[in-house]
Amino acid sequence: AERQRSPSNQFLFGSLLNRPAQTPVVAIVGRPNVGKSTLFNRLTGTRAALVSDLPGLTRDRRDGVADLYGNEIRLVDTAGLEEAQRGSIADRMRKQSEQAIATADLILFVIDARAGVTGSDKEFARIARQSGKPVVLVANKAEGHKGTDGVLDAFSLGLGAPIAISAEHGEGIGDLADDVLGALGLKPATVARKRRSGDTAADDEKPAEKPEREKRIRVAIVGRPNAGKSTLVNALLGEDRMITGPEPGLTRDSVSSDFEYKGQAIRLFDTAGLRRKAKITETAEKLSASDAVRSIRFAEVVVLLIDAERPFEHQDLTIGHRVVEEGRALVVAINKWDLVPEKQKTLRELKAKVAESLAQVPGVPLIAISARSESGLDHLMSAIAKTYETWNRRVSTAHLNRWLEGALSRHSPPAVHGRRIKIRYVTQLSTRPPTFVAFSQRAEALPQSYVKYLTNSLRETFDLPGVPVRFHLRKSD
Ligand code: GDP
Ligand code: GDP
Repeated sequence: AERQRSPSNQFLFGSLLNRPAQTPVVAIVGRPNVGKSTLFNRLTGTRAALVSDLPGLTRDRRDGVADLYGNEIRLVDTAGLEEAQRGSIADRMRKQSEQAIATADLILFVIDARAGVTGSDKEFARIARQSGKPVVLVANKAEGHKGTDGVLDAFSLGLGAPIAISAEHGEGIGDLADDVLGALGLKPATVARKRRSGDTAADDEKPAEKPEREKRIRVAIVGRPNAGKSTLVNALLGEDRMITGPEPGLTRDSVSSDFEYKGQAIRLFDTAGLRRKAKITETAEKLSASDAVRSIRFAEVVVLLIDAERPFEHQDLTIGHRVVEEGRALVVAINKWDLVPEKQKTLRELKAKVAESLAQVPGVPLIAISARSESGLDHLMSAIAKTYETWNRRVSTAHLNRWLEGALSRHSPPAVHGRRIKIRYVTQLSTRPPTFVAFSQRAEALPQSYVKYLTNSLRETFDLPGVPVRFHLRKSD
């Protein structure tokens, strides 16, 4: 049932013979159908895919070369472990995997986050553990934060914290590359710096994915019709590219624009786009809301633009909550500040209003601007960059557990049925937004109020304002 034979094995093996012996060898292992081939292709840049929906697809093991930020890695894609009913083929696959593990410096152990941990995953994890080789645990098929349960499940394999990725959609590959390089004792930072300085040769190489911090920040400006979105976009782009006008709902084509603001690369998504002037205001508002939702999905940082003359109407809050639900970083900008007579007082009131109505994201930045007179834009842009950084922040497990100890002793978990609930361990599961998981034998008994206390304390200790912080509890033995 093989769809396509890899045409490049010959070539790859040939060129591998000439590689220095020090090139680290990384074996991709896991049961069939978890996405090993897809990951192999993603990391090596191989187009000739040997990807199949059929579990147990017979194939030879493939070798390839991946370039992780300028570090050459030899990748071995193994056939998966198959259950015994497949007879000699299964034995051969298993033998191959074991051989690959034996010759590898590092094991990339892949599970399917959507399927969760299965019996053969456990069996395989045992073999991986017994090899004594370092293992990087990968929970695949987790695009768009899907499969969170499976990612959490993966902790139970005893191979450390999983990295949530999507091999198919290219999500989380930067985190994966960082961990692989870290586990091999190679530093990822050197080449990233080379790239930044504009080395075009390096750009031609096949990078796994630029680290998040290297990227253009994807920003969407959302808000009610007439809040001043077009005017702001024009002010930021520095040219009168778009039509603006006083009529609600008069908008331009849906666009994204790339620009640099004081050295920070931005891709701006324009929300209200593609609408002709709507006949009645009501329709315009509806259209604008669904456009907003679309651009929130595209964006990493969302600027909620508020009209200072009509602040925080229902629709503003709906959009704000939506941003938080979607896990994006949020910046609130109050526009038309030039029209506000009592600025100090108004700012105080608006701050209180934001704190109250967007309570899920305490500390969300509130920036007063005038898009028309182009004031406050520096302040806005630095708030965007800072919130983006927070959204991507990774806190080390050591720091987290030191924090946990303190938080538990300051305010201990309640006793339920006469026994105090213990929390053993906490680690950061992912970034964008920061997502944490804590383990407790009686996770289900811990009251929501205590989880809230922990989340807030974590937020304060690690300074995570303005971004959604996800905190999961997981049962552990
Ligand atoms: P292998 O048997 O472990 O090598 O798995 P394959 O790479 O052949 O992938 C098995 C199936 O999972 C294929 O249908 C892939 O398209 C699919 N797949 C691989 N990676 C992803 C992913 O990140 N997300 C989703 N949704 N599907 C994926
Ligand atoms: P959009 O519907 O959100 O794209 O809003 P527009 O950018 O079309 O702006 C709507 C109206 O508000 C226009 O008449 C703008 O000139 C005006 N406007 C935008 N920004 C400001 C500002 O900072 N101050 C004042 N006074 N008016 C503004």
